[in-house]
Amino acid sequence: MSRLIVVSNRVRAQEKRSEGPAGGLAVALSAALREYTGFWFGWSGETVETFTGEIHTRRVDDVTIVTVDLEEIDYQEYYNGYANGTLWPLFHYRIDLTAYERSFGEGYERVNRRFADTLAPLIEPDDLIWVHDYHLIPLARELRRLGVANPIGFFLHIPWPAPQLLTTLPRHRELVEALFSYDLVGFQTDEWLWAFESYVLGEAGGAWGRDGQLEAFRAILRAEVFPIGLDVEEFRALANSAPAYRAYDRIAAHTAFRSLIVGVDRLDYSKGLEERLLGFERLLQDNPDLRREVLYLQIAPPSRDEVEAYQDLRVRIDALGGRINGLYADMDWTPIRHVHRNIRRDELAGVYRAAKVCLVTPLRDGMNLVAKEYVAAQDPNDPGVLVLSRFAGAARQMTDAVIVNPFSHEELSEGLKRALTMGTDERVRRWRRLMDGVASSDVNVWRDSFVERLADAHASQTSASGSKRVQANWGLTPRAASPRKPAFSANGPQSRGAAPISPNRQIPESRHARRQPAALPWEHFSFPPRYG
Ligand code: ADP
Repeated sequence: MSRLIVVSNRVRAQEKRSEGPAGGLAVALSAALREYTGFWFGWSGETVETFTGEIHTRRVDDVTIVTVDLEEIDYQEYYNGYANGTLWPLFHYRIDLTAYERSFGEGYERVNRRFADTLAPLIEPDDLIWVHDYHLIPLARELRRLGVANPIGFFLHIPWPAPQLLTTLPRHRELVEALFSYDLVGFQTDEWLWAFESYVLGEAGGAWGRDGQLEAFRAILRAEVFPIGLDVEEFRALANSAPAYRAYDRIAAHTAFRSLIVGVDRLDYSKGLEERLLGFERLLQDNPDLRREVLYLQIAPPSRDEVEAYQDLRVRIDALGGRINGLYADMDWTPIRHVHRNIRRDELAGVYRAAKVCLVTPLRDGMNLVAKEYVAAQDPNDPGVLVLSRFAGAARQMTDAVIVNPFSHEELSEGLKRALTMGTDERVRRWRRLMDGVASSDVNVWRDSFVERLADAHASQTSASGSKRVQANWGLTPRAASPRKPAFSANGPQSRGAAPISPNRQIPESRHARRQPAALPWEHFSFPPRYG
């Protein structure tokens, strides 16, 4: 029976589903792993003096997790260094904050080798391996070096930078080449996919191959769009729980007929928190009649506070919030409230429901799950309005939100005003379309379509190379049959019979064919993709 092995930097299975903190990745992967056999592999979050490769295995809320400790120098160079000091800002279009230090790159390579050395002995011939996010781009290359021939897919949760930005990174070519050791690479939106394709075609001398696959570095790669979704059922259940209603009542009592605007983000420079505050200030400045009528609650727990850019941001946000409050507050009204801590997910659902407007205005974001959670938590008869940055991946799908450019304070303020004054009919109309989209492209669709395409990509790429063939059944077996889920085990790749695999997917450089339009996963979603 095939297993699914999920690999990510940190393993953050939730002890209890209702409780935070949890990033978008953790929430989605816990939901995926509850459905399948297999395990989740990653760093324990602990550091030891000398790396041993010893693994720790435990079960957390129906998910098997396998972790390994790293050395302190790994933590500094790989995690704080290359992942969060180099790739994160660069991939969020902030080359002004990007650290280009050689030791960081060395730490990144070393930890990827350590992950591969530890994981390889745990892999069985039928396993399907799904690697997540920018920390682990070279992992497939290292696993292939160790002879792992299984299907390996990679999903990038964050944006992919435009080629003009990526080329500022020393050794950018090696980074992209490493992706060609995967069978399938997934992006959140067509925009990030296009940026990747532009690099491969324009910088790396690649070309379109068979079935819309990319050929470069003497290898084949399938690259497609898989927008991540929510575990909608779980979130709706949280929104209808007693703690959610209690949180709702507390907020309602506190806001006392005022309109609540809420923002929920990790404290991160990509989230546009300063621009959001300035947009809100502009609203107060231009609309004296709204001044005592609105409250802006920003929930933003600090993250990565060992990285300098994050410490600076917190100081600036506090100062800005303080200045605006000082300017506009009255004896019985303070316009902005900041909460610097994580709150439980069930309470968060209640806060979303109590908020008339949710401000999701990142300057650049892979997807943004807060936007989808807000929609899923609304009262269908009296829903709130989502104000969404055009630079969030979610804006490609959620076109019924009020879409704004967060760099413009005027546009942000006008979008906010439009949301605050929108009539019930329009709110209900917009919300229904948004909710249809959130429900129909949930985390299960995301997971199942990725896994199905991975098995298919592996089969087609290895048969093209015509080398070693191995009998394997790549269709995963869900732990419990669920009528709600697409039954891809019945119609999926294993119905094509034995999947040929090869440890060496290299192709002759001359085999460059014209591109066939690929069936994009968009076709599975009811959201219209947004262009322009
Ligand atoms: P990112 O992964 O960049 O942090 P996302 O919006 O995709 O951004 O995901 C953020 C996730 O973290 C959401 O599921 C959200 O509910 C959760 N979250 C963010 N802030 C808090 C908080 N203060 N308390 C609890 N959960 C939070």
